[in-house]
Amino acid sequence: MIRYYYELTRKEMEAVDKKNTVVLFPLGAIEQHGSQAPLGTDTIIAEAMRGYIKEELEKVDPDYEMLMLPPMPVGFSVEHLDFCGSLSFKADTYYHLLYDICSSLAYHGFKKIAFLLCHGGNKPVVDSLARQLRRDLNIYPFVLNNGAFSHPDVKATITPGNERDFHGAEMETSMVMAIKPDTVKLEYSEAGYLGEYDGKKAVKFSGSKSIPWMGRDFVTAEGKPIGILGDPAGASAEKGEIILRTTAKTLVPAFLEIRDWKIE
Ligand SMILES: [Zn+2]
Repeated sequence: MIRYYYELTRKEMEAVDKKNTVVLFPLGAIEQHGSQAPLGTDTIIAEAMRGYIKEELEKVDPDYEMLMLPPMPVGFSVEHLDFCGSLSFKADTYYHLLYDICSSLAYHGFKKIAFLLCHGGNKPVVDSLARQLRRDLNIYPFVLNNGAFSHPDVKATITPGNERDFHGAEMETSMVMAIKPDTVKLEYSEAGYLGEYDGKKAVKFSGSKSIPWMGRDFVTAEGKPIGILGDPAGASAEKGEIILRTTAKTLVPAFLEIRDWKIE
């Protein structure tokens, strides 16, 4: 059964098979997503993904034992603090906050925690945390990236010419349009470009030779910092539905392996 963690009574929680139940912990963010998409884009997606995952997983295994935590609304978003409204924990604050929640879960006997990363910037902190949790608490923390951005069905949603679509642009805006359409103001959308990275052959904004990017590095055609990379103009709710649904489907095989993961 897939249930929402905080809806259980203490008595119901006592009856949960802690050893074999997977705790899903979606990790969002509140940070700028351009002029057109809400600050809570990642958290809105994190919240909605729980429903999509539930539907897709129950089709394959109606008895899947999972408890879904509410998404952590704020994450590690220092790269966006130059823009109004962005919120961030410092890396060490975020690490310890997540650590304490996971050690509470471990104290009650839970062994399998699946982090769902709905903001890429959270990943370095969560990777370190997951390794330490395994070492310290002998639990099994799985790290899953949300957003099947390389899946052909998702790639096919991108408007031709906008293949660089990355942070805060067409794909993310589309997903929010599928979930909370009133929060998107597509009429304000502006395209973001690579700025200083443009034309660089060796040092990129990610990869093996890189400098960590800041939102202000991404600029409009006129050179104004816009904080997004890509053009949100072609976003739509239909595209968002494809991205969310495809993402949930691509997560299913991982959840099945997590279910069967041998633990001590
Ligand atoms: Zn985002």
